[in-house]
Amino acid sequence: MIKFENVTKKFGDVTILDKLNFEVAKNEKVTIIGPSGSGKSTILRILMTLETIDDGIIHVAGKPLWHEYKNGQTVPASEHHLRQMRKEMSMVFQQFNLFPHMTVRRNITEAPIHVHKLSHKEANELADEYLDLVGLSEHADKFPSQLSGGQQQRVAIARALATRPNIMLFDEPTSALDPELVGEVLGVIQRLAEKHDLTMLLVTHEMQFARQISDRICFIDKGNIVEEGPPEEVFTSPKEERTQAFLKSFI
Ligand code: ATP
Ligand code: MG
Repeated sequence: MIKFENVTKKFGDVTILDKLNFEVAKNEKVTIIGPSGSGKSTILRILMTLETIDDGIIHVAGKPLWHEYKNGQTVPASEHHLRQMRKEMSMVFQQFNLFPHMTVRRNITEAPIHVHKLSHKEANELADEYLDLVGLSEHADKFPSQLSGGQQQRVAIARALATRPNIMLFDEPTSALDPELVGEVLGVIQRLAEKHDLTMLLVTHEMQFARQISDRICFIDKGNIVEEGPPEEVFTSPKEERTQAFLKSFI
């Protein structure tokens, strides 16, 4: 579903991703772990086309993102492809990023109406469905500032789901929350992880949670995958010294 081949990303002279090879299968749930600055957010932001790449090829759902090979040459991917790709994916950020001047309901219906061209009625039905899923049906007419951080993040998840993506990306969705609010957000993500028809790529420092919901854990450091495997393997008996050292810092 997602495939990075020899992807290099630089900021100025600094190489952030160094010929990264990385794959996520359809409906797989993958968690990326790794030290601060290792390139985790960059991977997600590249997928959301918020960042470009310097070299390599990325495919999402079989279609090239950014660049494609044509007649043996690398050419920019078409705008048409990029638009299609953006519809495959939704991302939930650490800082909820809700529209502060819109009600919860309008936050959720905005993209379905304006990007996906649904009718107001259809978009409102979707909003009802996803507000129910995240347990916030009562709060549809409130503004983000009237909600707790945990509730805001659950709205952000409902909003991300309302475009009916096949792939959900989460970048440290609980890192900005007070500890007592983390559980309610993880609970919603856990329910999503149980959906068999959703591909999930998650960045988190909640190791216990990652262990429960992931099919695979990728440990990245300095822009490359150092070690990957099923959670039981990576968490219980990491093979690489760098993984061992990183995991120790969480005990
Ligand atoms: P964290 O755990 O702190 O969120 P991360 O693994 O998500 O870290 P990234 O945000 O992907 O790390 O950043 C990787 C590196 O790229 C960091 O050294 C960061 O300073 C640098 N970086 C990220 N965005 C930019 C930018 N827009 N311009 C310059 N450097 C950047
Ligand atoms: Mg990050």
